[in-house]
Amino acid sequence: MRLFVSSLCFGLSLLVAAVVPTRADAEFMRRTSEDALVHWDRPTVRLPIDPNLATIYGPEIYDALADAADAWALDSGVPRIELVFEGTPEEHAAAAAEKGNWIGVITENWPYGDQLAVTVSTIGAQSGRLVSTQVWINAQRPLALEVSGEDHRYDLRGVLTHELGHVLGLGEAEHAPEATMYPTFRRGETRQRTLARSDELAVTNLYAIFDVQFLSTSCAASPIPRTTGTRAFLVGISGLVAGYGRTRRRRRGRRPHR
Ligand SMILES: [Zn+2]
Repeated sequence: MRLFVSSLCFGLSLLVAAVVPTRADAEFMRRTSEDALVHWDRPTVRLPIDPNLATIYGPEIYDALADAADAWALDSGVPRIELVFEGTPEEHAAAAAEKGNWIGVITENWPYGDQLAVTVSTIGAQSGRLVSTQVWINAQRPLALEVSGEDHRYDLRGVLTHELGHVLGLGEAEHAPEATMYPTFRRGETRQRTLARSDELAVTNLYAIFDVQFLSTSCAASPIPRTTGTRAFLVGISGLVAGYGRTRRRRRGRRPHR
């Protein structure tokens, strides 16, 4: 029996070696200060939607959100985003306290500079496990569900697809201008609605790593360390900046969770 277990461990460690991130994927993946890859450890991520989004952008926002979630529904072990179309006031309050998942809109006193949208994530620093994510859309910027090449507005569908990539744990792909996860949007441009091959590979490779590592950990019979103290959590903010014909760097924000 012991022999069987060690052979299994050996096989699994070979698999782990085979799926370490490539240099190209590494740019899309986020790491905590403890060098852990950011990820969910559950098959489904429930994401309540603020009803105010439909008030501001029309009921078509629900189809746009479903399309954005579908873009990331790649099977291959990537968690599925389960949209909850009528988020409750209680869920909103939890999200405002960075304690629950949410996709919402801020209509005044936007606190994140000139960003079109941000995703705020709470992450276990040692494990890299996502605890909660909140997407906030900046209603003070010109965002629309239907834009064209000459439009002065930004494509909200592309913005939603980009932010859901952050919800799944991806970071900004600053050197991949073809990608949905490229952090800059230009007015009237719609290409970020559709994932590039590099987006797909990054997210499927990320979750392939965790499929195998969970098996490997249970095989070694060593429990995954739990990080319960507030100091172990980071809040990472991934912001999306508007492009003005040249590339602008996003702001980087990372601060201890209080
Ligand atoms: Zn972003």
